[in-house]
Amino acid sequence: GMKAMEEAYQKPEPVTKVEDSIWVYIDHFDGELNKTSLEILGAARRVADLMSTKLGAIIIGTGDENLIDEAFKYGADEAYYCETDNAKRYDNDIYTQALGMMINKYKPNSLFFPGTYNSRELAATTAIKVNTGLIADCIIFDVDEKGQLQATRPDFGGKETSTIICPNNKPVMVTTRAGVFSALPERDFKGKVIKDKLEKPVSRFKITDYKNIEKTNALAAAQVVVGVGRGIVNKDNIKLAEDLAKKIGGIVGVSKPLADSDWYPKDRQVGQTGTTIKPNLYIAMGISGAIQHLVGIQGSKRIIAINSDPDAQIFENCDYGVVGDIFQIVPELIKKIGDL
Ligand code: FAD
Repeated sequence: GMKAMEEAYQKPEPVTKVEDSIWVYIDHFDGELNKTSLEILGAARRVADLMSTKLGAIIIGTGDENLIDEAFKYGADEAYYCETDNAKRYDNDIYTQALGMMINKYKPNSLFFPGTYNSRELAATTAIKVNTGLIADCIIFDVDEKGQLQATRPDFGGKETSTIICPNNKPVMVTTRAGVFSALPERDFKGKVIKDKLEKPVSRFKITDYKNIEKTNALAAAQVVVGVGRGIVNKDNIKLAEDLAKKIGGIVGVSKPLADSDWYPKDRQVGQTGTTIKPNLYIAMGISGAIQHLVGIQGSKRIIAINSDPDAQIFENCDYGVVGDIFQIVPELIKKIGDL
């Protein structure tokens, strides 16, 4: 949408020429494409251009051809569609068979998966099926002169990053962190469609209930986020952050200890094991600024921190810092905004 429009894509100079295409797995639920798939199409588009090769979208489904156009709109050159019975909703067994078949038949250079729960599971089982490796949870991609994909991921709880290549694996499989990459601007384009069918797959699973939990993450999409940490002291006090968020059109996110204590829903946790956010404004209230929290907020345009400890790590990682007590400052701030 609008946000993507602001950041027009600049095609990079190719570093090499690779024959086989780059694939992106398109995640979907009830006929609707998961937005994280569009982010990863954006990241893989750049890799395909660096390798001077085609970007293919791989879609598995039952009557889900409508998703093909979506993939073209957001960067794919071609679409591989595998129709199979009983695949309207994700079933790991069936999807692994279908994806394995497509990989063995068309032999992509590498395969990118969005950071959704289902895709991450599918990546792992498919890697075993086609006997290749998997680089999980990547945040940066590059290509070396030999045409090898270089994937960078956080290690040791985010204290370090490693850059990994897989010289002996094909395809190179990667999963990515949700929220790190941006979708390309929408375009008008239709490319080549390659259709296949997996006949009568049998699943070992019997799925009795299915909830789409990926869809409802308001935090990842929010433009203004008020983050609350342990400085808030107790659950009831979170109301203070909600009041501020309400005044400035934002939503509340929390540090891990608050989500762990069930003071706030887990899907509002910001950080490495929570959600990566990219708001225009992030206000951190009583948050110390642990590395695992910081990796989740580094894409924010502006960060304001309020903390009573002048030596808090968050002050090294913010645009504006206020040393003080949140219980004094925030009510005053709410009042000031109310007077504007
Ligand atoms: P604290 O570190 O206790 O900080 C509270 C802050 O509040 C202090 O700086 C204090 O000075 C300030 N304060 C206290 N009272 C007031 C007041 N009245 N006014 C103003 N300031 C006040 N953490 C995450 O947030 N997200 C994650 O995804 C995440 N993933 C993790 C993954 C792993 C593998 C590990 C090991 C840890 C992870 N953590 C994560 C935890 C992280 O290391 C920190 O423990 C956590 O972020 C600390 O939360 P906090 O800042 O709320 O609490």
